[in-house]
Amino acid sequence: TNGVSEIHIESGLLARAASVIGETFSPSRIHIVSDSTVAPLYLEQLEQQFTLPVTHTVIPAGEEHKRLSTVEGIYHDLLASGMTRKDLIIALGGGVVGDITGFAAATFLRGVSLCQIPTTLLAQVDSSVGGKTGVDLPEGKNLVGAFYQPRLVLIDPNVLASLPDSTFADGMAEVIKYGCIADAALFDKLEQGQVIDHLEETICRCVLCKKHFVEEDTNDKGRRMILNFGHTFGHAVEACSGYTVPHGCGVAIGMAIIARAAARRGICTDDTCAQILALLRQYGLPTETDFCRDALADAARADKKIAGGALHLIVPERIGCCRIETVPAADIPAWLADGGIV
Ligand code: NAD
Repeated sequence: TNGVSEIHIESGLLARAASVIGETFSPSRIHIVSDSTVAPLYLEQLEQQFTLPVTHTVIPAGEEHKRLSTVEGIYHDLLASGMTRKDLIIALGGGVVGDITGFAAATFLRGVSLCQIPTTLLAQVDSSVGGKTGVDLPEGKNLVGAFYQPRLVLIDPNVLASLPDSTFADGMAEVIKYGCIADAALFDKLEQGQVIDHLEETICRCVLCKKHFVEEDTNDKGRRMILNFGHTFGHAVEACSGYTVPHGCGVAIGMAIIARAAARRGICTDDTCAQILALLRQYGLPTETDFCRDALADAARADKKIAGGALHLIVPERIGCCRIETVPAADIPAWLADGGIV
C-alpha cells in the first residue's frame, strides 16, 4: 500500500483518460465513483471512452456525505457490478469523492486497484496524492481511514474551468502553502499572478512538492508533518465553525496565525509574515477569524494529531522554509495570542 503512484498532469487529459488507464491496468470491468455535481459534467465523457463494462455510483455532493453509510452504498454497487480484486475503481471528483472512493478501494475485498481523477484544485494539488483515504464520524473529520496509494493519478487542469470561484480560491490556499514550505520560486510566481495562465506548471510544482514530503515519510510521522503548515489552527477554525468554513479558508487563516506568531517570536522577519498575509489576500483568502483564543485552543488540543500532550506546529522561518516546533498543549494559547487571536 506504500507503493508510489504514477501521476500524469496535462490539459485535456480527461478526453484520453481511457488510453492512459489502459497502459497501467488491465481490468475486466471498471467502477467509477463521482458526485452529483461532477457526474453531469464529466462522467459520460469518461465512461464512453471504455470498451469494457463500466458501472458507476453517483454520491450526493458535499462533506456531510463523507461517511461510512456512503461507503457501504459503494460496496453494494461494487458487488452488484461483479467487481473482483483484479478490477479497477476510479474516483472522479473533488477531495470528498477521492477520500471516500479511496477508502472503499482500500477495504473492498481487502483492496482493489485505484485510479484518482481529481476535479478540484485542492484535490489536484493535495488530496489525490499521498494515499490518505477515509471518512468522517459524527465525532470529527477523517477519524476512520487507511493509507492506500492510487496506482495512477490523472490530473486535467481544464476541468477546473467549471469550478465556482470560491472553490478555486479554497484550493489556492494549499498552493500558497507549498510556496511557503518548500518552493520560494512558486511563491514568487504566485505574487506575480502567473498561476492562472500556467496552471499545468503550478499544479506540477505542487504535486512534486507533496510527493517529495510523502515519499520521505509515507506514514505521517516525521518530515511529512511540514505539509500541515497552517493546518493545526486551520482545523481548529474549521471545527469551531461547525465545518461551515471550508478547508482551504481554514488553512489560510491557520497560516496567517502561525506567520504572525513566528514574526512575533523572531522565528521569521516581519517582512516574511507580511508577504504571506498579502499573498493570501491577493487570492481572495481570509487571514482573520472571530473565534476566540480559548475556543481555538480547545479545538486544536482536541485534534487527533496531538501526541503525548504536545502539538507539532509548523512554523515559517523564511519563504520556502518551515520548521517543526514541538509545543506543549499548555502553550497553545500563548501561540494563538502571538498570532493575533484575542
Ligand atoms: P469537494 O470534493 O466537496 O468539492 C467541492 C465542491 O466542488 C463539491 O460540491 C463538488 O461537487 C464540486 N466540484 C468538484 N469538481 C468540480 C468541477 N470540476 N466543476 C464544478 N464543481 C466541481 O471538496 P474538496 O475541496 O475538493 O476536498 C475537500 C475534502 O478533501 C475534505 O473532505 C478533506 O478532508 C479532504 N482532503 C483530503 C486530503 C488527503 O490527503 N486525503 C487532503 C486535503 C483534503
